[in-house]
Amino acid sequence: MEHAEGGNGTDRSGAHGAAPGSGGTDSRGAGGTVPPRAPAGRGGTGGSGSPERDADRVARRDEAVRAAVEQGLTGPGTPVVALLDVHGIRASAADLRAAFAAVTAPGTPVLHAFAVKATPLVPVLRLLYEEGIGAEVASPGELALARAAGVPPARTVLDSPAKTKAELREALALGIAVNADNAQELDRLDAAVRSAPTRAPLGIRVNPQVGGGSIEALSTATATSKFGVALRDEGARQWLVEAFAARPWLTRLHLHSGSQGVPLSLMAQGVAEVYALAEEINRRAGRRQVDTIDIGGGLPVNFGSDATTPTYAQYARLLSEAVPGLFDGRYGLVTEFGRSLLAKHGTVLARVEYAKSAGGRKVAVTHAGVQVATRTVYAPASWPLRIAAYDAKGRPKTGPDVVQDVAGPACFAGDLLAEGRALPLLEQGDHAAALDTGAYYFAHHYAYNSLARPGIFGFARDAGGGVRFAVVREPQTVDEIVAESGGAQRSALTGL
Ligand SMILES: *Cc1c(COP(=O)(O)O)cnc(C)c1O
Repeated sequence: MEHAEGGNGTDRSGAHGAAPGSGGTDSRGAGGTVPPRAPAGRGGTGGSGSPERDADRVARRDEAVRAAVEQGLTGPGTPVVALLDVHGIRASAADLRAAFAAVTAPGTPVLHAFAVKATPLVPVLRLLYEEGIGAEVASPGELALARAAGVPPARTVLDSPAKTKAELREALALGIAVNADNAQELDRLDAAVRSAPTRAPLGIRVNPQVGGGSIEALSTATATSKFGVALRDEGARQWLVEAFAARPWLTRLHLHSGSQGVPLSLMAQGVAEVYALAEEINRRAGRRQVDTIDIGGGLPVNFGSDATTPTYAQYARLLSEAVPGLFDGRYGLVTEFGRSLLAKHGTVLARVEYAKSAGGRKVAVTHAGVQVATRTVYAPASWPLRIAAYDAKGRPKTGPDVVQDVAGPACFAGDLLAEGRALPLLEQGDHAAALDTGAYYFAHHYAYNSLARPGIFGFARDAGGGVRFAVVREPQTVDEIVAESGGAQRSALTGL
């Protein structure tokens, strides 16, 4: 597959703003530090989202679970681990690049920036970078993770709604693209640009106010969303046009087009609104001032089955039909997909410590609960997870379905991974796997009950038909929990 993104387009934005991936090199050319991309590997048959590929992902997961048990990654002393499918992550990155390459004019600069918040793990960011994907960061911590992974400034975008002056200064000094969230932040950019010239591409985040999806807390484009300049508010459009006219160094528009629960048509409508605004700004300015549109992320993930749907190809096609002018080569593109790149490649594997019955309901008490699946436990209707049953040896469990609860280890009644789920009966020593947890789950540890952060292991098939693992994040030790809980300050309060 061809690389469409980065570096192959000309910098049309003048001295100030750099096109995505500019800096004269493509992602893996930067500093010569990125090793050549590995071949696609085995099992990559069929097109994006094809049943064969989805079935192969399930087969890889089954092999990894079995190997994790056999190789002792999980056992009585380590009753919960998280697994990441390296081949699957590479394949999703390739799908994303191919989807936009198929609908953009040749030479269009496209930067796919992974939303770091979805899976804030340095080895994951490095793997994605090697696959041609940059980083979208929203805090000093996320920026530090991207830098630790070796993602260069030209492949990084900063988007938080609450950037401090120090964060803005650092981003501009590094040359990282910044999207101002509001008029007050634009004032800060004015001051920063006056005090020190920067090559950082700068833009404004717009909320097209096209409406929300089925999950209120994740709907970014409602009338009253906290993000961006509310485009339909009185006077906002005029203010935006004038803000750009007065600042030749503003070259980008940003929106976050959708999130879990938002229909694709609504996402496309938001992109169309911002494209129309870019055209208006450029018409009024009499020049191609807005040269890049950052369409954000948010492709929904199917948590209901192993099918990859919707696909990047479907979304890119829909966008190119709904907003053809955005793809004719006049605009560079930035995307910021998070969940859809990682979700289906992560699995939480937890031992069943006890299997019991209460009031006629079967309950499997496992070691995966609110600490790794916080959203699911607190908002189960919005974030249901599929559970797969494996036996004590890590083999897929067979037998008749039995309605049962799959509980976590935390000390509150609501700590349930799944309620009333029909599965082969989980027994003591079996394993419950929480599927599709590669984004916003095990990497977002919640320290309830001082439960330890589980170890995270990447896996890949080896040449001999086995499974190899690599540590992505070491499991947290009890000593670390004590240290992070003020262990060194034992007498801080009694001595005050
Ligand atoms: C969270 C976020 C994303 C990624 O959203 P996903 O639903 O994980 O794809 C992209 N852009 C911005 C600005 C975000 O806040």
